Amino acid sequence: MSYYAEPITRLLEELERLPGIGPKSAQRLAFHILKGDDAAAGRLADAIVEVKQRIHFCSRCFNFAADDLCEYCADPQRDGSVIVVVEEPRDVGRSFGNRSIRVGAFADAGRTAMVIESLCTSMPR
Ligand SMILES: [Zn+2]
Repeated sequence: MSYYAEPITRLLEELERLPGIGPKSAQRLAFHILKGDDAAAGRLADAIVEVKQRIHFCSRCFNFAADDLCEYCADPQRDGSVIVVVEEPRDVGRSFGNRSIRVGAFADAGRTAMVIESLCTSMPR
């Protein structure tokens, strides 16, 4: 039995669905949100909704992007002659930071062939 009001219980349940968030972390986050002002909670909720509505896969490399091309593919300073393939889009920035490379990102092995084909067709000859 939960000792929290239903909306708090619902928030705790949703937070606990996030990776790496157990019951104690969910409580810490939930009470942080509750103690904050309404505007801060609204910004968090809006950011979650916006990222789900606006972010999709880059048409060239399948990294996350808000436009047709991701930040890496749209950057004219990047060296288009080098391809780096990473397992997850989150690995792009972590692994390669500001180096001048073109990054191919894919989230699962099933898309590997499609990503490589996409990158090869977009490489300069
Ligand atoms: Zn891209």
